[in-house]
Amino acid sequence: MHYPARGGPPVRAVDGMSLRIAPGETLGLVGESGCGKSSVSNAVTGLLRPTAGSVVVDGTEIANADRATLHRVRARMQMVFQDPATSLNPRMSVGEAIGEPLLVRGLARGAALREQVGALLTEVGLRPEHASRFPHQFSGGQRQRIVIARALALRPALLICDEPVSALDVSVRAQILNLFVDLQAAHGMACLFVSHDLAVVRHVCDRIAVMYLGKLAELAPRDALYAAPRHPYTRALLAAVPEPDPDTQRRKPRVPLHGEIPSPANPPPGCRFHTRCPMAQEICRRVEPEWRPVGASMVACHFAEQTSPVAV
Ligand code: SF4
Repeated sequence: MHYPARGGPPVRAVDGMSLRIAPGETLGLVGESGCGKSSVSNAVTGLLRPTAGSVVVDGTEIANADRATLHRVRARMQMVFQDPATSLNPRMSVGEAIGEPLLVRGLARGAALREQVGALLTEVGLRPEHASRFPHQFSGGQRQRIVIARALALRPALLICDEPVSALDVSVRAQILNLFVDLQAAHGMACLFVSHDLAVVRHVCDRIAVMYLGKLAELAPRDALYAAPRHPYTRALLAAVPEPDPDTQRRKPRVPLHGEIPSPANPPPGCRFHTRCPMAQEICRRVEPEWRPVGASMVACHFAEQTSPVAV
């Protein structure tokens, strides 16, 4: 995903990365704001056409698909965005919002539609009688439940969740994350879960991909990633996750991560992380690291076998 920039080089928001999500799997995509993760989710849903490459959903190529193909495939995938308030039309009742995809695609109407809407509301922990209310009558967490119910209406094969709990109070985040886990187990859909927060994805994901400046830094099964992170950037993100227990927090290794993420219009040569990496060596400034297996991870780092910073 490259975006044209006026008077300068294109912004290379996503620059050569490959991901596969199996049916029934939840893949977490994690990175700082500006790393390109939302461009990935927008390319997967067909909201943006990638500059090059391929997006295959359920066996259908959608990167350059015509409108009819995109319309058909989009029924198989749904999105849940960060802010439920802007995802819902304030003038539509909750029942109308949830039932709309079923109605538009001619899958249900009348009493059958009302019954399905009631069942969807129950499934996300609300009540069928909530269908007649309007979004402003609900809390943020409840509104996100409504958005999730609407996303489930067409029984998608792939759910794409872009920071779905970041706008919610900490107290309701765990409830919504538990809901995702339950619904995923019940429906067996694949899920791409985009977040800046490694603590959030730990709760819901089978595998986790860590992204930095348009490329993958590391991809690993969840438990392996938290037990033995291989990339210095993954370790820095993990070190920044606050621990509820003050003793555990004190014992946590400190991994300094200085400065801002560089501009994707002008990424550093060699390893893109070298300008901020506490382990960077001379080779890192010149040679882009290979994407290779180390332990249970796939990782792009010349020194992925080393687990602690070395003197620069
Ligand atoms: Fe750091 Fe070098 Fe590894 Fe890049 S390749 S993450 S700069 S040690």
